[in-house]
Amino acid sequence: MNKIISFSKRRGFVFLSSEIYGGFGSCYDFGPLGVELKNNIKKSWWQEMTRLKDNIVGLDSAILMSPKIWQASGHLTSGFSDELVECKKCHKRFRLDLIEKDKCPECSGNLTEPKKFNLMMKTYVGPVENEAAVTYLRAETCQGIYMNFKNVVDSMRLKIPFGIAQTGKAFRNEITPKDFIYRTREFEQMEMQWFCHPNEADKYFDYWKKERINWYLKLGIRKENLRTSEVLKKDLAHYAKRAVDIEYKFPFGWREIEGVHNRGDWDLSNHSKHSGQDLTYRDEERDEKYFPNIIETSAGADRLLFAFLCDSYLEIKGGRTKTTKSIKELETVLKINKVLAPIKAAVFPLVRNNSELVEKSKEVYRLLRPRFVSYYDETGSIGKRYRRQDEIGTAFSLTIDFETLKDNTVTIRDRDTMDQKRIKIEDLVSLLEEKLKES
Ligand code: ATP
Repeated sequence: MNKIISFSKRRGFVFLSSEIYGGFGSCYDFGPLGVELKNNIKKSWWQEMTRLKDNIVGLDSAILMSPKIWQASGHLTSGFSDELVECKKCHKRFRLDLIEKDKCPECSGNLTEPKKFNLMMKTYVGPVENEAAVTYLRAETCQGIYMNFKNVVDSMRLKIPFGIAQTGKAFRNEITPKDFIYRTREFEQMEMQWFCHPNEADKYFDYWKKERINWYLKLGIRKENLRTSEVLKKDLAHYAKRAVDIEYKFPFGWREIEGVHNRGDWDLSNHSKHSGQDLTYRDEERDEKYFPNIIETSAGADRLLFAFLCDSYLEIKGGRTKTTKSIKELETVLKINKVLAPIKAAVFPLVRNNSELVEKSKEVYRLLRPRFVSYYDETGSIGKRYRRQDEIGTAFSLTIDFETLKDNTVTIRDRDTMDQKRIKIEDLVSLLEEKLKES
């Protein structure tokens, strides 16, 4: 875990927010490589959910919404609170369900009786800070989807069953944010709400559970690090009829990375009741009018980024080629799916003191850069440059040498197999496109 945290900082994946002021409220920033990785995760999710599936459309709704929504959804009442306990000795606060014994996990002091603590992040809209101006940063992106249920049905002429997908920031005033970026107060969700006939909810619940697991496997998450766990009735969220957690085996144990929920008609019926608007669906084929049931798939982009880093970070003693001087020396390879790799191609001139080689390399770099995230490096031996790229998961490295100047071919090296072969510069773009295509 400490290795992943220091690697994330050292190589520009994740930085502590407001670091020069000592950090802030368990928030994190994504560095140059982190933002590429997170974008690739979101892009792959979007592709999977809106392009490779039938009848799912996208949405981007506002973070700030009417506080009435949170009243109707149950988030402001008892539904969205955790039980908080405080240590009588060191005064640290903890979420009751996240501690193992009835003593303080830090100093073993006695704990107070649990108190309910609401997780919504409060703010004010407009110049006057009074009760009438209070609203909340959204705690889940899906409420924006329910708000637009009618708009989307009407504007896109959709017929049930269909889905609406959205990615975006969500905020929760977590009591015990911890485990690096696993639990933070500001995070990004990737949610899809599937609207279906109530009689088909169970069928689609099973369908989406399977489909979501397949997406992780397709992206190369190791099977042995993935499992599902049925949420017990007593632990279900206030809106859920049934829930399955998709869990990943982090260095600190099995933890949820995505939830698949059967939300029944909780959301649409409650919003109908509170807003006075009819949110039922007229099903012409069945000749019925009803509140569709909702199957939700809800994943956290930051948590997934963390899981992908943990899953692909490898340290090999003595190096993969065993050519290093000391067996104790570690070679690090981020064996991440190439579709997710932050950098797709690194371009190296064999030597940097030859202007022709350098110019040719920059020409190749400029050819690739608009199409793939690329990187130019001319410092250190070729072996060192390969290793620097392997460490951050760069998919391919390209070396420009004296032969290139004669026949316009470059050496392309695959991060995983370390195989090298020569290829014509004119074929580079199509080869990389082919190799980096998502299945
Ligand atoms: P937990 O039990 O871990 O608090 P939850 O069951 O409340 O999570 P959901 O409301 O189902 O989580 O949210 C769906 C997904 O959003 C989670 O699986 C997770 O990936 C992500 N998520 C939720 N809370 C956080 C958080 N505080 N930080 C990072 N990601 C989060």
